[in-house]
Amino acid sequence: MDYSSAALTLYQGAIYMVQSRPYQVERLDWEGRKAFVTTTAADYYTDAIDYTKLKVLDRFDGAMAGGGTCHHGEVHVVRHVSGYKKIKFYSHENIGYGPVNLPDQELHTSAVWWQLTQAALESAFASRQEALDGFLGAAYALHTVALVRVMADGHDLQKSVGSGDAAWFALRDVNGRGRWRSADGASSDPEASVHFNPTLFLYDNFPGGIGLSEPLFQCAALLVREAMGLVEACDCTAGCPACIGPVPGTDDGLATTQRERAATVLALLGA
Ligand SMILES: [Zn+2]
Repeated sequence: MDYSSAALTLYQGAIYMVQSRPYQVERLDWEGRKAFVTTTAADYYTDAIDYTKLKVLDRFDGAMAGGGTCHHGEVHVVRHVSGYKKIKFYSHENIGYGPVNLPDQELHTSAVWWQLTQAALESAFASRQEALDGFLGAAYALHTVALVRVMADGHDLQKSVGSGDAAWFALRDVNGRGRWRSADGASSDPEASVHFNPTLFLYDNFPGGIGLSEPLFQCAALLVREAMGLVEACDCTAGCPACIGPVPGTDDGLATTQRERAATVLALLGA
């Protein structure tokens, strides 16, 4: 296992497949870079729960993107693995959780990112929660079309929504709702913050970058149009894995659907 993948696949309790036989990780010696495993007959596999915080270090180039901006440059990424899900074979039921206690992974890499002003978001959305959902849905759609555009694997180019200065970040909970987290990972309320400056990142998941960001920046306007096309043409009602990502908890009591929120963000970036 390569070093950068170890935290996501070899944590204590992980089920790891070797030549189609499942092994369970009994202990991970992080310093010594050894995982101690035993064969297992478990009826589930594991999936790491992680989140990333990105901070912009340097802007190489920038342009207007509708009512917002698009940049590419250098970013600092911190990845934290907070735990893992146990997922049953065949039925894919979630049958439990386990904790992971490993040091954060850090890397410097290149990214392309989009931002909208607080004023634009306040006039387009009734609440910051809806704007956050919109950003997460737009990130999913932009990530999908960007992967096709540069012919990359989903692991090599990754997405993240946060503040741009690592003050906060957003992720989806099990129902697909956007959750706002402060820098230490604690849950918090988006309305409580003074500054609301969501940033949508697509970043190269390798130290130093692998050259995906600049070509993505060059066709940023096209990507936004393609993502909008993906979201608008989908046959679902509120959002699905083919457009804005899985959103099983569709009824959140708000006036708009997750899909409409994602379309609003893309419309603002493409106007
Ligand atoms: Zn859909």
